[in-house]
Amino acid sequence: MRLSRFFLPILKENPKEAEIVSHRLMLRAGMIKQQSQGIYTWLPLGKRVLDKVNAIIREEQNRSGAVELLMPTLQSAELWQESGRYDAYGKEMLRIKDRQERPMLYGPTNEEMITDVFRSYVKSYKDLPLNLYHIQLKFRDEIRPRFGTMRSREFLMKDAYSFDLSREGAEHAYNRMFAAYLRTFARMGLRAIPMRADTGPIGGNLSHEFIILADTGESEVFCHKDFLGFDVPAEDTDFEDVAGLKAIFDKWTSRYAATSEMHDAPAFEAIPEGERLSARGIEVGHIFYFGTKYSEVMGARVQGPDGKEHAVHMGSYGIGPTRLVPAIIEASHDENGIIWPKAIAPFEAIVINMKSGDAACDAACEKIYAALQKAGIDVLYDDKDERAGAKFATADLIGAPVQVIAGPRGVANGEVEIKDRKTGERETLTIEAAINRLT
Ligand code: ATP
Ligand code: MG
Ligand code: MG
Ligand code: MG
Repeated sequence: MRLSRFFLPILKENPKEAEIVSHRLMLRAGMIKQQSQGIYTWLPLGKRVLDKVNAIIREEQNRSGAVELLMPTLQSAELWQESGRYDAYGKEMLRIKDRQERPMLYGPTNEEMITDVFRSYVKSYKDLPLNLYHIQLKFRDEIRPRFGTMRSREFLMKDAYSFDLSREGAEHAYNRMFAAYLRTFARMGLRAIPMRADTGPIGGNLSHEFIILADTGESEVFCHKDFLGFDVPAEDTDFEDVAGLKAIFDKWTSRYAATSEMHDAPAFEAIPEGERLSARGIEVGHIFYFGTKYSEVMGARVQGPDGKEHAVHMGSYGIGPTRLVPAIIEASHDENGIIWPKAIAPFEAIVINMKSGDAACDAACEKIYAALQKAGIDVLYDDKDERAGAKFATADLIGAPVQVIAGPRGVANGEVEIKDRKTGERETLTIEAAINRLT
């Protein structure tokens, strides 16, 4: 991508409304624009990151055996009347009427709708286990939307729903998601800690929130320091291996970890003081097992091997991609801007032409830009007619992990500089060597 052809509306000033660093940087770097309270446009730079986050989520969901579909954002109130949640959900639910005065709502979550999909087609235990997911916008009329897309009213959620014949089957489904979540967050450069959690309006009795430790987090959390060193499940994890997945679950729940709602102070204080972590955290994912809560009332039953009808055991599993983006920035930035982990960087590298219009600089940059593109690297070429200082500031702000800097003096010797955004280390290399290094 050539910056002269891209749409990158950088803000020079610090936006006053932004209270936390990720919100400030997302606005300044031209990633998002607020359209009305808690409702955002994802501008091209932000969209690129969001797409990469979603791609990782998708890969790990698919790896674990979940199957993607896409449900609508608008739902009929009838479904929610069936489950009994239409009245219970309260003001967070945006209720709408269509032209026939039929009550509709903008889905805050999809347990009812997926249960309806399931009951329409699945009649036998032979079609289980099943886990269906989608990545779709949700709306919750949050009382206090804030921190940009960290807590917005319209936001993206990956929500998966599992269906099993028995509690044991459902526990395995839960463990699959548990392991998939650990992998998902780790691939984004995050250490997420599963914490015992309240099940809230979803209901049920087994639940974990996945929490990223961050000073700006809205949750108060308590856990054992050992979590910082636990190994994340490997890429070749066998998601069919019931005992293997149980072992992962057991390991990652073997130490104390709870949010304030579930906090057990005496149990926490029994841990030696030096091993305790009392911190703030961001909830980036949440998984629930809720048994037959929806399947009973909504008639999602299958015929079992015994020939009888059984209400299916269900779980639901959410991740917030539009919250993850700021969470990653909270975890990875410095005073100059964002430092993207390579896996989700909007551009893996930026080529900075210090003197656009200079024939030698232009030729060197074009050559590097073409070579990186050819190698399949997401590269941004700053070909704009701007002073070098402004280009450096932009490059640091938008946080591409690698910068290739070409100026007239170096290029005269056939050389460019490579700068590592994270460490700030610079190295002078020949153009060929720089290309070899990056491809
Ligand atoms: P919170 O406690 O932050 O209000 P929640 O517990 O209500 O979140 P869940 O119903 O568990 O949220 O939804 C699953 C995931 O969706 C959350 O873990 C979070 O990552 C994301 N999410 C929920 N609400 C929002 C929001 N208002 N803005 C952005 N992401 C959200
Ligand atoms: Mg909430
Ligand atoms: Mg919560
Ligand atoms: Mg939650």
